Amino acid sequence: MPESLNSTLSDLQSRTAALCQDVLVPLAARVHSGELPRAVALAEVREAAKSAGLFGLTQPAEFGGRPGGPLALTLVRDTLASFNNPLSGAVLGPGPGVLADCRPELKDTHLAPLLAGEKRAAFAITEPADASRHTWAERDGTDLLVSGVKSYVTGGAEADFVNTLVELEGAGRTLVVIDRHSPGVHLVERFESLDGSHHAVLRFDQVRIPETRILGKPGEGMPRSMGQIGDTRLAIAAQATGLARWTLGFLNEQLSAPHRSGQPLGDREGVRLRYADLRIQAYAMRSMLYRTARLAEAGNNIRNEGMACKIFATETLGRIVDDGIQLSGGQALSLSHPLAQLYQRVRAWRIAEGANDVLRINLARGALEFGLGEI
Ligand SMILES: Cc1cc2nc3c(=O)[nH]c(=O)nc-3n(C[C@H](O)[C@H](O)[C@H](O)COP(=O)(O)OP(=O)(O)OC[C@H]3O[C@@H](n4cnc5c(N)ncnc54)[C@H](O)[C@@H]3O)c2cc1C
Repeated sequence: MPESLNSTLSDLQSRTAALCQDVLVPLAARVHSGELPRAVALAEVREAAKSAGLFGLTQPAEFGGRPGGPLALTLVRDTLASFNNPLSGAVLGPGPGVLADCRPELKDTHLAPLLAGEKRAAFAITEPADASRHTWAERDGTDLLVSGVKSYVTGGAEADFVNTLVELEGAGRTLVVIDRHSPGVHLVERFESLDGSHHAVLRFDQVRIPETRILGKPGEGMPRSMGQIGDTRLAIAAQATGLARWTLGFLNEQLSAPHRSGQPLGDREGVRLRYADLRIQAYAMRSMLYRTARLAEAGNNIRNEGMACKIFATETLGRIVDDGIQLSGGQALSLSHPLAQLYQRVRAWRIAEGANDVLRINLARGALEFGLGEI
């Protein structure tokens, strides 16, 4: 639980909260007022996060990072999100993702620049609903020729390279690294989703890459992709939990403020019942998150618990923000209201990184067919 942290983790939590309070909050206010460009503020956040020893927590020691374990990262993400600050994404540096343990050639050309913030990566798995076959790769000597369409590549238009899942002839699903501007890579469409993030539809027409662009062994693309997505699920649950705490803090103030009826809304029993329910759900969500992080910290495989956490945290946060809007009234539907913005932002998490119902099916399969998963 977040209460029983050792002194190192307690210190990490305090440093994260201090960074938010002393650096992110004032910088975000200056960006909001138009006084400071967002890009300048983000650069200042990155420098401050490096000084506070937070930036390198997601980066391998070999590249100058000081990698944090699952519990430390959960704590930092929960704490950062509890400030609901628009600059918090710059605090943790880019992680290696599926490039972890890649071959030496890719370390120099792709991994090192990615970790240094000099190159941007995207991850392409999802294919159009009407695709007749998976994106595939044929061998041509020591090269591969990749063809097909990926329909939902976050940051795909701006990326320098795209880690792409392909069906490799004779080997099965394999991850390969494709430079975004290689001949044959076409940007079909760039679109924005409800949460404000940007994505691309990419088409590959016989894109030639050397076989050294294969990540891991041919055929191990799915476990490698799922490993990356599995880590992201715990990260989403941590952010959702922090945002739930922020929402409850915001509501607390709303319900205690003067109201035109003559008494604060929080004095009404019906409102208190609803508010209490939200606190109960947030309590369960945070307890679940830290138990899962501790299981991971102890070296357990948390594939099933990570899915359970992601489902519960994203659905609970959805309910908390939705009820928060209800209790705040019409003003919370103004598009500039923080709850209206949060409502749009968090909806995507019930579909991204594995649609929640698909994860439910996997969770049931893990228990019924393999006897896996904790209660
Ligand atoms: C913000 C955002 C960012 C994303 N970024 C990326 C990215 O960077 N790279 C990438 O590859 N993808 C990305 N995606 C795509 C995401 O991974 C897919 O949207 C998700 O996996 C669902 O796939 P789909 O959209 O094709 O829906 P479908 O697979 O067509 O499913 C639609 C719905 O049908 C139901 N359903 C489907 N199958 C089952 C089943 N077996 N059992 C029960 N119900 C089922 C579910 O309710 C599901 O939501 C992103 C999505 C979002 C929203």
